Amino acid sequence: MSTPIRAAAQALADTLSAWRRHLHAHPELSGQEAETARYVAAELRRLGYQPREQIADTHGLIADLLPDSPSGAAAVALRADMDALPITEETGATYASRRPGVMHACGHDAHMAMLLGAAALLAERRAELRAPVRLIFQPSEEKSPGGAAPLVAAGVLNGVGEVYGLHIWSEMPVGTLGTRVGPFMSATSELRITITGRGGHAAMPQQCVDPIVVAAELVLALQTIVSRSIAMTDSAVVSITQVQGGSASNIIPEMVELRGTVRTLSEPVRAIVCARVHELATGVARNHGAAAEVAIREGYPAVVNDANAVSRALAAARAIGIGETDIVTMSPQGGGEDFAYYAQKVPAAFLFLGGRNETKGCCHPHHHPRFDIDEAALPIGAALLTQVALDWSVTGKTPR
Ligand SMILES: [Zn+2]
Ligand SMILES: [Zn+2]
Repeated sequence: MSTPIRAAAQALADTLSAWRRHLHAHPELSGQEAETARYVAAELRRLGYQPREQIADTHGLIADLLPDSPSGAAAVALRADMDALPITEETGATYASRRPGVMHACGHDAHMAMLLGAAALLAERRAELRAPVRLIFQPSEEKSPGGAAPLVAAGVLNGVGEVYGLHIWSEMPVGTLGTRVGPFMSATSELRITITGRGGHAAMPQQCVDPIVVAAELVLALQTIVSRSIAMTDSAVVSITQVQGGSASNIIPEMVELRGTVRTLSEPVRAIVCARVHELATGVARNHGAAAEVAIREGYPAVVNDANAVSRALAAARAIGIGETDIVTMSPQGGGEDFAYYAQKVPAAFLFLGGRNETKGCCHPHHHPRFDIDEAALPIGAALLTQVALDWSVTGKTPR
């Protein structure tokens, strides 16, 4: 099914691919997106926008499209991320990265192209707009602490009523769209627990405090957090992934270090899990006369999708001809996303857009050296973002 917006996006297909391929061939790592930002800003200016660059002293930029006859409604924001990954590309594509060791292996090149596409389509429809549209190009998604938090702190959501983010997804066939209401992407926390005992001869344990025994007991005790401290309706993962200590079969070491990760779908659950990690580590160590030092580094919070924003996005998806069978209600994902910081501030929807096509060889996972997408997804994404913004401008609310 084709609709005017979808047809207009389809007519832009070559331009969308050209944008994506240029960005793909010239990837930049998190926090280093200077050239990318210059390119995006130049394209926005060509489309009639006046982008504001270097937001919060980052390579982030925003551009506003203001209606001719404003209704006083809040703006709708559309966000794309800009950074690439430290991977050497192995696709062999004509548009492959020209920078060894750097690759757009997560599809953020496609996100920028689709948002530029929406910028073009919306600029042509400015007469229909009643509410402002804010385009957010955000750096450094892949590297904690991320580029979203400083942009939000700098006020990019001031006057914004809702925010949408689209992520291309290689696990889903091109033409499909996936999302869910509520927690969608996980909050991540990294654990490092150092257990200090008293080392000595393995034949004389009575003179030692063995940190290996303490660590063994602690690894098992940590597994009671999810089963005994978290409600059946909540969920969490605690994984200890590294155990390091000892140097010989006849020496009790002085110290053992445990590392691991915690994934949760809400801040209250993250707080419970992290508090229990502290209590168990210090408690188990103390019981044996050892000491435990716990360091927890918080990654991104959980992405929590707003029900109304998801409804608006799905209505827009149907309006541009995405069929009911191509709309997928997803399970919460274990990965993290700094889109979470926008969603903490205003109602938000984060969506996965299918980019997989086995016949074109686009079947490798994100962050893989042969990751690629079916560019047929680009006009769909551009149309979807455009439709969401137009729908918001008809029904959008006044600023809160
Ligand atoms: Zn990624
Ligand atoms: Zn990504």
